[in-house]
Amino acid sequence: MTQYVYDFTQGSKDQKALLGGKGANLAEMTKLGLPVPPGFTITTQACREFLQIGSEPGDLRVQVTMALRQLEDQLGRRLGDRHDPLLVSVRSGAQFSMPGMMETVLNVGLNDASVKGMAEETGNERFAWDSYRRLLQMFGKTVLEIPGEVFSDAWDKAKSAKGVTGDLELDVDDLKEIVEVFKAEIKNATGSEFPQHPREQLDLAIRSVFQSWNTDRAKLYRRRERISENLGTAVNVCTMVFGNLGDTSGTGVAFTRDPASGQAGAYGDYLANAQGEDVVAGIRNTLSLDDLRELDPASHRELTRVMRRLETHYRDLCDIEFTIERGKLWMLQTRVGKRTPAAAFRIAAQLVDEQLITLDEALGRVSGAQLALLMFPQFDRAAEKTLLTKGMAASPGAAVGKAVFDSETAVAWAARGEQVVLVRRETNPDDLSGMIAAAGVLTARGGKTSHAAVVARGMGRTCVCGAEALNVDPVARQIKVGDTVIAEGDEISIDGSTGEVFAGAVPVVPSPVQTYIESGVDAALAELTAAGGDGGGDGETAQLVKAVDRLLTHADQRSRLAVRANADTAEDAVRARSFGAQGIGLCRTEHMFLGDRRTLIERVVLADTGDERDAALEALLPLQRQDFIDLLTAMDGLPVTIRLLDPPLHEFLPDKTELAVKVAVADATGEVDPKDRKLLAAVERLHESNPMLGLRGVRLGLLIPGLFALQVRAATEAVIELTRAGKRPKLEIMVPLVGSVMELHLVRLESEQIIKELVAESGLGDKGLDIPIGTMIELPRAALTAHRIAEEADFFSFGTNDLTQTGWGFSRDDVEAAIFAAYLEKGVFTISPFETIDADGIGRLVKIGAEEGRKTKPDLKLGVCGEHGGDPESIHFFHDVGLDYVSCSPFRVPVARLEAGRAAAAGTPTEEI
Ligand code: ADP
Ligand code: MG
Ligand code: MG
Repeated sequence: MTQYVYDFTQGSKDQKALLGGKGANLAEMTKLGLPVPPGFTITTQACREFLQIGSEPGDLRVQVTMALRQLEDQLGRRLGDRHDPLLVSVRSGAQFSMPGMMETVLNVGLNDASVKGMAEETGNERFAWDSYRRLLQMFGKTVLEIPGEVFSDAWDKAKSAKGVTGDLELDVDDLKEIVEVFKAEIKNATGSEFPQHPREQLDLAIRSVFQSWNTDRAKLYRRRERISENLGTAVNVCTMVFGNLGDTSGTGVAFTRDPASGQAGAYGDYLANAQGEDVVAGIRNTLSLDDLRELDPASHRELTRVMRRLETHYRDLCDIEFTIERGKLWMLQTRVGKRTPAAAFRIAAQLVDEQLITLDEALGRVSGAQLALLMFPQFDRAAEKTLLTKGMAASPGAAVGKAVFDSETAVAWAARGEQVVLVRRETNPDDLSGMIAAAGVLTARGGKTSHAAVVARGMGRTCVCGAEALNVDPVARQIKVGDTVIAEGDEISIDGSTGEVFAGAVPVVPSPVQTYIESGVDAALAELTAAGGDGGGDGETAQLVKAVDRLLTHADQRSRLAVRANADTAEDAVRARSFGAQGIGLCRTEHMFLGDRRTLIERVVLADTGDERDAALEALLPLQRQDFIDLLTAMDGLPVTIRLLDPPLHEFLPDKTELAVKVAVADATGEVDPKDRKLLAAVERLHESNPMLGLRGVRLGLLIPGLFALQVRAATEAVIELTRAGKRPKLEIMVPLVGSVMELHLVRLESEQIIKELVAESGLGDKGLDIPIGTMIELPRAALTAHRIAEEADFFSFGTNDLTQTGWGFSRDDVEAAIFAAYLEKGVFTISPFETIDADGIGRLVKIGAEEGRKTKPDLKLGVCGEHGGDPESIHFFHDVGLDYVSCSPFRVPVARLEAGRAAAAGTPTEEI
């Protein structure tokens, strides 16, 4: 027989999938001997079966009866008994906490008879009738789905009829009357009487919880948060305890540490003489835990003991719900609490200090995504702000600008140097140019997979989406939020890390964590001290900086993957180095052929003879050499991977249409510059309908004589010059877009010849220079023939951007804006394959490439230089596949360092502290 019902004494915290988070933790607390009111949990499996067959599984009712009778026997009371009734709460609770599930119904078991019994037993008639009217109200609303206003309106009417404002001013007779009114409303709305039978109340409530799994709200939330549709929710049936039994009773919530700042020490709110969610509903001012100590020292002591026990057991921040009934403490809920990124780092470091967790475990308590949030510039916390509304935090950052309502305006205003925030109901592919031009994007509709969110994240633009309170009127060019109107050109500020939207320009300050990353702990602390506020060098922010340093340092010690940066200029290289990069994994050389140097490339392309071409290349040589000298100097002692020219040549030539017009116009007047005509012919010859798959990468090297040779020569000469000057340049040459071993073989042959000659000329002696020559693996064919390619390669670097493009057949520039939001919506992906490596497909190519390559050369060096190198989830994948390094944009280097450490620390639960 399947077990559908677990007593709180049976389960444990590791059974969240079966008992839901709430049920599993209630069981855990019961096991720990903490004061939990007895009860039982109906499993998620029962819910799944209910949803599948449309009714309760046969055994379920029987098992509920057994559990209920056991509960009654244990307490010596019967559910809904007319003398001393047992009452229960019915509470939903899925594996992941989730809005949209049914709200809790309290006081189940009360009816016309038991309300009297309860009044007698407690000697508090008002309490009994107030509990009964609460049951009618909650049951009516959540189980019978009668609009809540039906009850709240009747409640307000009763008060105004009596001429009072406070709930507590209604006396027993008023409450008895209200109960009759509520019962009549229920009859009126459903056509039947409020179920008087206690067991029927219980069964109906349980069934409603099951059904609430499929509300629209719950479904929407699951889609947004990537939670599976078929988990189902558990149902908890818990003996009622009463915080509304007078002044020695009350209810509260608490955290064992502050989840917002991470400050050590318990923190909570308490409300005397209250039930359920009164404490968070803001009906009366709450008391602090210190106030509770004054009020009821014994309960406070007990609560403190319980919280310490929970922290010792869970070894983490816990949040709790509790009730005190006539001086006796009851625990109603606990879980490992959610927290802000700053709190996550501080708490992890505190727990290490308290020797409750190891440093390795501490790495498991923080994430690269949290670190990234801490590194963005932030709105000045001290500044005065006007919060307009809150949407979803879709892409982090703090953006300030003038509100504009269409793409053209965004582009036009940005072109004249204005900062703008593009505000749309929702975006579509036509908005792309506006999104590029804007400092931030704000939408009223759509979730984290909406077009706005996906595209903004892809290009690192700050974005708040789904701010539903915004009434966007693109015709009148304004937004309304309540009574506030924001017109085109008015300044607004959006926080993509919290989802907040502010009116006006909120001042932005650099983040202290960013200062630490660039300049070290001392510099960051000095800055904080200088700024005063927040306790200077000892304040909360200082502790945060120290915590980040502690964990990042440990991650560096722990990680097996090295972290390099993608950097094209010496300036980027310096920044990358200050962020902790251990080398450059990808230096693109194309920018070195732009600007003034464009004409030299034109000369190469237009050359009629080999001599003319060589002369043009010769002119580029010293420029290119200096580029490499600068870069290698900035990274002295660390490896620098220079990729030979990759993009199609026409990218360096004038625009085809423009040039054609110019020639046509000149033709009409008979004054064509013959050079233009020749250039046009070349542009037309080089024009490609699919440049991404055309004459680029290694194909250029093999078809344009002298081009790769120039780059290899310039780089080698740079190395020779720096070596002579006593430096330690570590150059690596990388050949792009190789699909066949023969391509690499030919380039390698030529390059080795050049290096050999230059070294011989240099007189550096027969030591030679160690310049590894490797290739990118960015075509499926390269991955599949990696065992051959490895014969000619000293290293592989997986170019996962192009590998994703060529593996999926996606042209990123075209598909990302046009189809990804729809694909995410339809569930084709759960995340863009350009953001997180598609482990099953493209990841498999990486795995094959790595394995096959190492079969040929066991010590083949393997890296990644696509954007995935900076993505947390992908980094764990690359670690598992056994790569040696990841390379990512300089800004993501700290995130990658942390994640590389986390990947290494995971799975080794105990380590030295
Ligand atoms: P949520 O998941 O929304 O927190 P809960 O099931 O925890 O829902 O309950 C809502 C409120 O009712 C909480 O304040 C909780 O402490 C209170 N509550 C739940 N069960 C009981 C009970 N058996 N006795 C007293 N209060 C209860
Ligand atoms: Mg709760
Ligand atoms: Mg590429």
